[in-house]
Amino acid sequence: MDKLRSVAKINEKIKKGEAVVLTAEEFKQMLRNEELATTESVDVVTCATCAIMSGTAAILSIPIAERNEFERADKVWLNGIPAFPGPCPNERLGIVDVFVYGTARANHEYGGGHLFREIVEGKQIEVIVKTGDRIIERKISNKDLQFARMITTRSSFKNYMAFVNPEEGEVGSIFSLRGLKGPYKEISVTGSGEINPLENDPMLKTIGIGTRIMVNGATGYVIGEGTRSSEEKPNLSVTANMREMDAEFMGGFVTSTGPECITSIAVPIPVINDDVFSNLKIMDEEIKLPIADIHDRIPFVESNYAAVWQNTDLEIRFDAHKCVQCDVCDVEEYCPTNAFSRSKGFDACKCFNCGACIFLCPEGAFKGNLGRIKIYDKDIPITLRQSNRSKANELARKLKNQIVEREFMLTAPVDYLR
Ligand code: SF4
Ligand code: SF4
Repeated sequence: MDKLRSVAKINEKIKKGEAVVLTAEEFKQMLRNEELATTESVDVVTCATCAIMSGTAAILSIPIAERNEFERADKVWLNGIPAFPGPCPNERLGIVDVFVYGTARANHEYGGGHLFREIVEGKQIEVIVKTGDRIIERKISNKDLQFARMITTRSSFKNYMAFVNPEEGEVGSIFSLRGLKGPYKEISVTGSGEINPLENDPMLKTIGIGTRIMVNGATGYVIGEGTRSSEEKPNLSVTANMREMDAEFMGGFVTSTGPECITSIAVPIPVINDDVFSNLKIMDEEIKLPIADIHDRIPFVESNYAAVWQNTDLEIRFDAHKCVQCDVCDVEEYCPTNAFSRSKGFDACKCFNCGACIFLCPEGAFKGNLGRIKIYDKDIPITLRQSNRSKANELARKLKNQIVEREFMLTAPVDYLR
């Protein structure tokens, strides 16, 4: 490793206010503009992803009763969502440690992702503990929690894939809101493309155990590789304190098979040598987007991420003048984040920019170009995005700003992932 370009040297420049820090969005735009950029002229590129990440969970420590009031929690629910008490039983202390899955659900509309956001927002959470024959109920907020930590088992995949239904009918799955219509009527896509952290450091030269990152706006760390991580499709296991998180980067997302969990992760890539710099030049056009049959999830054809993120709209616009307050509103019924209702209107803070509303509203009240993908002779519209590139760009900007303000220093991995 070139000593002049080590993480320690880059941190020295950050401390002096001399580091050149760019978001991945800014860096790729420089390349598209053919502006000069070299290993020596850029110190850090902040990359990010914001997507449905099923492998997200929370560990919470909840004071529920006075000391000695009960012996052991048998079962726990938070806003109706089942949590796993333990592994430490905290006998007779009145405190329950629980593990909650982001994909756990109270019903078809409300799950762990919704709960995590509400905890971060400081909303009241109803806790029910079953201990023997007794039920203890209490309302808490994040101020009452003694410990609130998020952990992911697999997240920030090196991009993902798209799904299509080649057969007649509709197939319900986590990759659609109402079932994916076939044959070849629509495509559902996932993956942040050229700003994805692992796409920008595919050999994991700078991302390893102990790398300081940002999770939902909070400082976090990589703790290892994620489950089912492979050389071809690496992913990460990360952790961060939920008390420091920003609710706008997280939440629930309701698909045709129930609630999923939105998580956002930003990673600073230090430009420590020419190889790292060279890998940062990856563009949407070069990143393969495998397209799989929704039935068996096996890719049978491919496109690339330019079809998803180049010359398309990252943000969806709502035109209130076009909304005629229909008796039945499919946007209100199917918007996966409840960002729209006829009575309250459009809530941009909740919107995931998935684009489904464009196809759900017959009056054209929602607008945005999601792009199309050619499969054989068919030109198929993308009707659902399960990655929010606009929000990922925002998280990358937040991380950049913290580095520039000297509030976030980089760490070299204490160990490599493979
Ligand atoms: S379907 Fe469209 S026009 Fe009708 S109420 Fe919903 S958003 Fe408004
Ligand atoms: S893009 Fe439309 S459907 Fe998707 S979250 Fe936003 S308002 Fe809801």
